[in-house]
Amino acid sequence: LFYFSNSICSWQRGRFVVRDAIVIGAGIVGATITKTLIAAGRQVLLVDSGREMAGTKPSGGHLKPSWFSGMKKAEYEPAMELLDQTWGLFSESFVIKPVMMATTVYRVDTDVVVAYPYTQGNVTSIDMLDNIPRIKYSSKKEENVEERTRLLVVAAGKWCAELLPEVFANNPVIPKRGISFRFTGTTAPFIKPWAPYKQIVAHQQGNNEIWIGDGSAILEENWTEDRTQQCLTRCQSSFKGAKLIRSITGVRPYCKTNGDPCLLSQVGKHCWVATGAGKSGTIAAGWAARRILDATN
Ligand SMILES: Cc1cc2nc3c(=O)[nH]c(=O)nc-3n(C[C@H](O)[C@H](O)[C@H](O)COP(=O)(O)OP(=O)(O)OC[C@H]3O[C@@H](n4cnc5c(N)ncnc54)[C@H](O)[C@@H]3O)c2cc1C
Repeated sequence: LFYFSNSICSWQRGRFVVRDAIVIGAGIVGATITKTLIAAGRQVLLVDSGREMAGTKPSGGHLKPSWFSGMKKAEYEPAMELLDQTWGLFSESFVIKPVMMATTVYRVDTDVVVAYPYTQGNVTSIDMLDNIPRIKYSSKKEENVEERTRLLVVAAGKWCAELLPEVFANNPVIPKRGISFRFTGTTAPFIKPWAPYKQIVAHQQGNNEIWIGDGSAILEENWTEDRTQQCLTRCQSSFKGAKLIRSITGVRPYCKTNGDPCLLSQVGKHCWVATGAGKSGTIAAGWAARRILDATN
């Protein structure tokens, strides 16, 4: 027994509703894919469990074409355009210290991404990826909710391997932990190298609020509380007297990406997985959303 429950695409078959699309993970990758699919007229259920160490919360959201090793202009330009349409892309002039040269850095406001609404739920299993994919999740209100969908996107950061172990059997997702801070005050955006390939980056996040990070990316098991203090001291040295509002820790998910900004793989007729963006989550989100849109339109 089939009938269309709305004009676009979800239908009911027997006892369960088949959703048009489900995205697991409301980090920058999953939220960007969700907003992109919705803008293209699809109906999307975005599910997230609100994991403590998610990567997007601490992210500065910065991107700069010269940082995209191996990415062609024909790929990063449409990705940046999509990010601009989806979230708005700031273009800001950063001063590189101590040489005081100016460079343009682009930025998505990750506070806006993190505030994007989602359905709270911890997905515990996914299957039937070649047929009508099925997910099961538990929320604060209900255990073992079952949903079926015509398109499933798994964008669960470092946790993708828990949901799709066979996909990551030979390509594990390796999480590297980092931290950013919010201080009171105002600043002109700047970049200040403190070791080879390591730099302090700061920008004005909001009214009387500065975002600052030192780029530390440490294997999760090697992170100690000393690290937190070292990063804080390093960042504080740029803002004598500024008050710490909060520290935000999280992990950058790394895996083999075949030279792409992140791993984006079709893992069944109706299922995709996107993770492994490492330190380039922002451009990876735009790139993956563009690819999924093109492949599913
Ligand atoms: C300090 C720091 C600064 C950074 N700065 C930048 C920067 O300036 N520019 C840049 O491009 N990148 C930056 N990054 C990297 C960037 O943050 C990551 O690459 C990006 O956040 C990864 O996004 P994601 O959506 O793949 O994963 P996440 O943001 O980790 O999102 C995954 C989501 O999946 C959810 N989830 C997991 N398992 C389940 C489940 N079973 N059921 C339901 N939901 C689930 C989690 O709750 C989480 O919200 C930074 C990272 C750190 C740590």
